[in-house]
Amino acid sequence: MKKIVMKFGGTSVATGENIRRVANIVADSVKKDYRVVVVVSALAGITNQLIEEAEQAKKKKEKQIQEFTKKLVEKHVATVTKAIEDKSIQKEVEQIIEKTVDELEKVLTGICYVGELTPKSRDYVLSFGERLSAPIVWGALRNLELQTQYFTGKEAGIVTDANFGEANPLMNVTTHQVKARIESLLEKKVIPVVTGYIAATQDGVVTTLGRGGSDYTATILSVALDADEVWIWTDVDGIMTADPKIVPSAKMLPELSYGEAAEMAIFGAKAMHPSALEPVIEAHIPVRIRNVFNPENPGTLIADGQEAKSTEVVKAVALIKDVAMINIRGAAMVGAPGSYSKVFDVLGKNNVNVMMVSTAVSEANISLVIRRSLLGRTLSTLEIALLGRGLVSEITSEDDVCVVAAMGANMKGTLGVASRIFTAMAQEGINIRMIAQGSSELNISFVVKEKDGEAAVRAIHKEFKLDQI
Ligand code: ADP
Ligand code: ASP
Ligand code: MG
Repeated sequence: MKKIVMKFGGTSVATGENIRRVANIVADSVKKDYRVVVVVSALAGITNQLIEEAEQAKKKKEKQIQEFTKKLVEKHVATVTKAIEDKSIQKEVEQIIEKTVDELEKVLTGICYVGELTPKSRDYVLSFGERLSAPIVWGALRNLELQTQYFTGKEAGIVTDANFGEANPLMNVTTHQVKARIESLLEKKVIPVVTGYIAATQDGVVTTLGRGGSDYTATILSVALDADEVWIWTDVDGIMTADPKIVPSAKMLPELSYGEAAEMAIFGAKAMHPSALEPVIEAHIPVRIRNVFNPENPGTLIADGQEAKSTEVVKAVALIKDVAMINIRGAAMVGAPGSYSKVFDVLGKNNVNVMMVSTAVSEANISLVIRRSLLGRTLSTLEIALLGRGLVSEITSEDDVCVVAAMGANMKGTLGVASRIFTAMAQEGINIRMIAQGSSELNISFVVKEKDGEAAVRAIHKEFKLDQI
């Protein structure tokens, strides 16, 4: 009797038809006597809409907020009508949707009156995407006469710190609570449907786990419940050698080590949340990435010791958009002990996560890559803290760049990988703005202008013959 946590992403639940597909996948697994926990994302695009609405609410009029919530109800009710046949279940789910959106309307109206959006209230608004999708999946499962119960992440017992927008799970208390609330249901063959992405602090304040956080919810629950496997259902066959939207000939990678998959996730191979593998690595729980539109395909298996079997040097290449590069220069930084730590101290204290760092041997220059959305705030923080104090003479930035990352466990100790990559770039006439190799040696990443990003990915894919693996 296998225990499996299954997460269904935004596209998998985007339409009523897709939700029926999801319900059938769950029903098939139950027939095989698997005990299944379902984790659901918001319907595709809804989290983005909520972010937009939360940011705009302070400038809006009540009437405009009502227009938004009306459309939100319509969209979800239309999905219910297609996902669920049984009229009484339909009605029940519709009522839940209306009640939930009423609550959202009050929150948005509050933001509109106060004229302020705090990280706390932002997370509260963002939690509504999953709070609206989970009941629909619950209804679709009931429609197939399956026994099921739905939970928010908070109700399921997931507890985090108060780092709103990017909260971190507190695993001990989470494990304790999730076990107490969910385990007995599994024993009774009831399917828990849990909202992905959202959790709560110890005081019960709603938090979110960062964009794409439903993956993280699934792995957190798998550890808490000591599951046999996690299946991340999405809209592609598995983790591929590159984003198939950029390289149509990209191939599925049947197996990856945790280290490789984590590296890919961190480097934005969007297929997974960057922290999602942390809990399962220690617990040695295998993760599979699978396609809801092609369930016969076994997908990518991420597990212990997978790297040894492979001989390829570069396994995959990713493109990370929405980043910016900052260059910090100052002749006085040369040989001055602690000058780097000053820079990172300022960034750390201001919660700016640095994605890539590179320094010149002369030490007169540090280049950093950060999320583009943080650029304005980061520049002003650095300018206030560092300029005019004798250490740093100039801070410049570029916001029309992207990161290309080539990844693979066998890059470790293999000579000539970098030269092949950079020769390929030269042949394409692509100018490289910055280079970094992580000390893990699992990837080489570099910055190019945004307009060159896709061509760079295709050139690396071709150079390492990734479509022939
Ligand atoms: P979900 O809504 O299921 O969480 P995401 O959009 O977060 O799905 O992730 C799946 C998408 O990730 C795919 O549609 C694909 O375009 C993109 N992607 C980027 N890089 C890769 C990769 N290396 N392998 C697979 N998918 C990738
Ligand atoms: N709905 C959230 C997002 O769009 C979480 C997720 O889909 O995993 O980021
Ligand atoms: Mg995702």
